[in-house]
Amino acid sequence: MPRRSSKKRECVITGNWKMYKTIEEAKQFVENVTPKLSSSQVKVCLAVPFTAIHPTAELVKKLGAPLVIGGQNMYDATEGAFTGEIAARMLLDAGATFVILGHSERRHIFHESSSFINKKVKRALKDGLTPVLCIGELDEERHRGETNAVLESQLEASLEGVSPEDLSKMILAYEPVWAIGTGHTATPDDAEKAHLFIREFIVEKWGKKIGNAIVIQYGGSVKPSNAQELLSQENVDGLLVGGASLDPTSFSEIVNSKDL
Ligand code: PEP
Repeated sequence: MPRRSSKKRECVITGNWKMYKTIEEAKQFVENVTPKLSSSQVKVCLAVPFTAIHPTAELVKKLGAPLVIGGQNMYDATEGAFTGEIAARMLLDAGATFVILGHSERRHIFHESSSFINKKVKRALKDGLTPVLCIGELDEERHRGETNAVLESQLEASLEGVSPEDLSKMILAYEPVWAIGTGHTATPDDAEKAHLFIREFIVEKWGKKIGNAIVIQYGGSVKPSNAQELLSQENVDGLLVGGASLDPTSFSEIVNSKDL
């Protein structure tokens, strides 16, 4: 299978803070990490808890920090009687420009299906928020040799009815579930194989132009010690980082590893 060149694609590295950090802790992180970010080749994003979106977005503006703030989830309605939920336009209003959708913790702890995620993807796109769509297989699926089939079915259902124009505004994240928060990273070779499969699938369904341009991040126990090798793979365009994004030193080392 031909290798597709990543040379023209943007490198996007996103920290996913999950349910960590108060407003003060979030602001301290932004203050600390800003002078440590030396790579000009990377778009650096932080998916922070809802409560920290507005304060961090304001601080980023004030400092002129090279950071983009986003959310970690949303609901697909614009407003209504949906206790505990948040709308895309509320995230935008608070200063978010992107949202993580379909994270494995949403799929597996909160039982979100790909068809439910599909509704959120469409709503985010309609309201002007960039969706970062996560897909990935379970350990048992990997052992049964079902990785590609799982990726295909998640992509098909989560992106159902999304136009090429809308897809070109999205980011995809390959996150093998067995690698998230476990310390077991996919080998660079395995990550590359999965990314190439995803890209080929997008090319087949949405066309060459979109498939070759779409940014595909890898996520799953990324650390300063493995970031550079993962990023050097042809079809790995960026990283989605959980645990190691909570500390300004490890997160900045991951970002700066793009320049090594
Ligand atoms: C994640 O939360 O998306 C993630 C990949 O977590 P970790 O880096 O901790 O494995």
